Amino acid sequence: MSTPENTPAHSIVIAVDGTSGSGKSSTSRGAAARLGLRYLDTGAMFRAMTWWMLSHDVDVHDAAAVAAHASRPRIESGTDPLGPTIALDGADVAVEIRSDVVNASVSPVSAVPEVRARLLELQREVIERALDGAGIVVEGRDIGSVVWPQADLKLYVTADPAARAARRAQEEGGSDAASVQASLEARDKIDSGRATAPLVAADGAVHLDTTPYTLDEVIAQVVTLVEQARAARPVTERATS
Ligand code: C5P
Repeated sequence: MSTPENTPAHSIVIAVDGTSGSGKSSTSRGAAARLGLRYLDTGAMFRAMTWWMLSHDVDVHDAAAVAAHASRPRIESGTDPLGPTIALDGADVAVEIRSDVVNASVSPVSAVPEVRARLLELQREVIERALDGAGIVVEGRDIGSVVWPQADLKLYVTADPAARAARRAQEEGGSDAASVQASLEARDKIDSGRATAPLVAADGAVHLDTTPYTLDEVIAQVVTLVEQARAARPVTERATS
């Protein structure tokens, strides 16, 4: 049903970046669903690329080997926020990409420039398709800085490390919070320190610290920010789109 909240005034791109386990995925999905937007989880694309390398016996710590194979996997992202999908060479890999072995290997694979260039191309294709409709919420590490710097709204989402680990451990069905925290921090360290497209707060990004809020509260904050960003667009742009 069309409501004033989800009726698109024009197409819009929302860039959501932040640390692992900050709540940015649930927030991005929830906000996209409420606003009638598509949703792209770019982390799932890096995870699918990593799963391909692992299942084809490519050494994920050998950057040259990873680079040599980066153009081979066929990665397709379904962008319905109520049921996003990820397919690798035609097969659903939603479960495989969340495995411990992928958690441990995804950051080194994501640091390889050829991997980033390949996925950047795919990400921009998905965004451009979504601009034929109401628009899209795109989440990752470099969306506001590299993938779509012209985004209508950029968010940088963080939370206390202990809160992040507790949430992620609960999502994973009661994993040990201390080891989850160590894994999240290891990924953040590599993601923030890499040479190509490191995790940074993009210029103009609104910083959201989700630690003290429930998911519904954070989604409500994001929906308000999107409405404000829409209202701030020039009148002619709003009238013609
Ligand atoms: O978001 P998620 O935790 O699933 O991302 C998994 C990994 O993918 C990150 O730790 C990072 O190494 C990589 N990634 C990235 N750039 C993005 C999204 C994810 O490097 N835009």
